[in-house]
Amino acid sequence: MLYVDAPIANLLDGTRGQPKLLVVDDQPINIQVMYQIFSADFQVFMATSGAQALALCKDNPPDLVLLDIVMPGMDGFEVCTRLKADETTRDIPVIFVTAYTDAIQETRGLSVGAVDFISKPVNPAVVRARVKTHITLKLQSDVMRRLVFLDGLTGVYNRRYFDQQFAMEMARSVRNQSPLSLIMLDVDYFKRFNDYYGHQAGDDCLRQIATTLKEGLRRPADLVARYGGEEFACILPETEFHDAMALAIELEQRIREKNIPHANSDAAAVVTISLGVSGRTGDTPGDASALLAQADVQLYIAKNAGRARVCGELMLSA
Ligand code: GH3
Ligand code: MG
Ligand code: MG
Repeated sequence: MLYVDAPIANLLDGTRGQPKLLVVDDQPINIQVMYQIFSADFQVFMATSGAQALALCKDNPPDLVLLDIVMPGMDGFEVCTRLKADETTRDIPVIFVTAYTDAIQETRGLSVGAVDFISKPVNPAVVRARVKTHITLKLQSDVMRRLVFLDGLTGVYNRRYFDQQFAMEMARSVRNQSPLSLIMLDVDYFKRFNDYYGHQAGDDCLRQIATTLKEGLRRPADLVARYGGEEFACILPETEFHDAMALAIELEQRIREKNIPHANSDAAAVVTISLGVSGRTGDTPGDASALLAQADVQLYIAKNAGRARVCGELMLSA
């Protein structure tokens, strides 16, 4: 079973309230009709041109688009084609609403990526039913898309998400010449913990550690992921190395202060972690695997120096 705590529940609730519907039509009267049909159940947004629709989809992605085909300037086919070509908008379902009834137009609409086709003048009960079906599918697939990036045991992000975000943050850091820091951490003597308290207690311990780490990160862009068995990683964008060191020291204390008994540890009487920190300044070569390797080496040094501590090194420019 997936362990779901409050922040994860928010993550799973992609809609946060009413689903968002975007109605695109160059005739305001047609938008009015749709507004009356949907305003009770949806947040309804409106656009009267293709360009406006694309801008809205970028800024505030809706859960579904009702799209007119014949519009001056950019027509509906073009709008749909562009939405499907853009990674950030391609998952928004599009339904064409049009006076066209012939099979050629309908086929073309479906071939550019629409999920359905409704003819004008609309029957309120029919559009409502179709929109409901497609919105339900959209929200379900949003949940699935999020779940593939979560660790099933602890509820924090998984390795797959870490890899993706780390590559993205590294690229951003290079582009903006901004600092980027990384913390790798590993539970001390965890094999002995499992052997002594049992695997179930070990799982509970990992959940507590994950939650404590998440609570310890302050900025919205900071991220903690389960990197491997009892190893976690934190990405700290726009964070100077010395701030990352201070945060790592605080995380070590927070875990220790959880006071999870560990009768068999040589480091302390409670569960502790060892942490390795690495960081780059804006002008260091942007090498993601080097930054990762450096944090790993520092973690290894922390382990060898007696565990329950932080070691770190800033990457120097070439
Ligand atoms: P060190 O202080 O050097 O890190 O020693 P350690 O015992 O923590 O490290 P080692 O890599 O030898 O052992 C890690 C243990 O973590 C072994 C494995 O059973 C346990 N472990 C890994 N994943 C899980 C998990 O999902 N649940 C539980 N309960 N234990 C896990
Ligand atoms: Mg360990
Ligand atoms: Mg380990």
